[in-house]
Amino acid sequence: MFGFLKTVGDYTREAVDAAKSLSQGLGVTFDHLRRRPITVQYPYEKLIPSERYRGRIHYEFDKCIACEVCVRVCPINLPVVDWVMNKATKKKELRNYSIDFGVCIFCGNCVEYCPTNCLSMTEEYELSAFDRHSLNFDNVALGRLPTSVTSDPAVFALRELAYLPAGVMDPHDLDPSRPRAGKRPEQVLETLAPAPAPTTGEPG
Ligand code: SF4
Ligand code: SF4
Repeated sequence: MFGFLKTVGDYTREAVDAAKSLSQGLGVTFDHLRRRPITVQYPYEKLIPSERYRGRIHYEFDKCIACEVCVRVCPINLPVVDWVMNKATKKKELRNYSIDFGVCIFCGNCVEYCPTNCLSMTEEYELSAFDRHSLNFDNVALGRLPTSVTSDPAVFALRELAYLPAGVMDPHDLDPSRPRAGKRPEQVLETLAPAPAPTTGEPG
């Protein structure tokens, strides 16, 4: 009897979860039905990439310890870490580091697993070139600070649809003081309750 009730309970829970997922999916579909195509006059106008955009990788040579974790976690073993062993100090000496953005799939694994955080994903997405070999960035090119849509005076920066105020569909002629519908990551963090302090487990 107990087993039967548990089976029914599990089934009901799964059915409710499935209905919830379905309604969320349909919600996205209906939301897109209301939208109309917007023409962005590139390159005079550009959309501001999202905070979690995975663009060109930035690399800090001074922080790299040549551990090659980035190579091992890369699905195509792409980063090239060029180092030599210094026999006197018995330490690795980094010579060069490169990533070929003509091959990189921008999965972000290398950034995620780098133990010294010397890699980061930037919002730079304009990587087209006449020669694909010029997309093989060495440590100097990787260390260049990324371009930013919002700091370029020659570009009119437009908010992406997800960052427009609620109900607004067109990023043109938007009052900049109008807040966006979603919260920024730091605003989400502010709303989260602080984690409880760990218990010491001292005997009472
Ligand atoms: S994982 Fe980070 S520290 Fe290690 S070699 Fe790659 S970039 Fe350098
Ligand atoms: S972003 Fe992904 S594919 Fe590109 S170098 Fe890093 S791990 Fe490799």
